[in-house]
Parts: sequence; C-alpha cells; structure tokens
Amino acid sequence: MQPYNFKCSQCGAVNFTEENQKLRCNYCDSLFFIEVEKEKPTVIIKKGANVVFGGNVVVKGSIDIQEGAIVKFTGKLTLLKKASLQKIKEAKLRLMKEEIN
Ligand SMILES: [Zn+2]
Repeated sequence: MQPYNFKCSQCGAVNFTEENQKLRCNYCDSLFFIEVEKEKPTVIIKKGANVVFGGNVVVKGSIDIQEGAIVKFTGKLTLLKKASLQKIKEAKLRLMKEEIN
C-alpha cells in the first residue's frame, strides 16, 4: 500500500510516518514538510473595476472581488469550488460595511 502520493527525495522510499504535518521517511529518516496548497483566487477583480458577467459563467476556482469593485452577474453562475470560510466571512463583513455607508 502507498498511503502518500509522495516519494522520498533522498532514498526513493514511499513509506512514511506522519508527525504533526510532517512526514518522516521510514527508511532513511528524512523529514518532510507537507505543503498545503494555498487557495489562490482564479479571478481577481480589482478595486474600481466594473464587471458584468453575462451568460453562463463557470469559474474553476475562486473569485476574489476586492473592495470597491462593482460586479454584476446576469447569467447563471456555477460554483465549482467554494471559497474558504475565512474569505466568506471577510466578504460578509465587507458587505455589511457597505450597507451601512
Ligand atoms: Zn528516505
């Protein structure tokens, strides 16, 4: 069995023991940091932009709409990948602030 899709760059073994987000090679004892891929937004809409999405828009990834940008979706938008909870929280706070102003 190969639990990790990863090969030790030092000895080529594929058996590891996980230790606090790190992998230790069972053969040569090398320690590897498990890189967590950070979500990068696929589409960034910058401040001051005025964007209208018409028709069927599919964004494979996330959209980062910066403060002050005007974005309208007139068509159907299919969400393929949900933004992080933190991003959603920030967006909601941003929306609330905009409603007050
Ligand atoms: Zn190794």
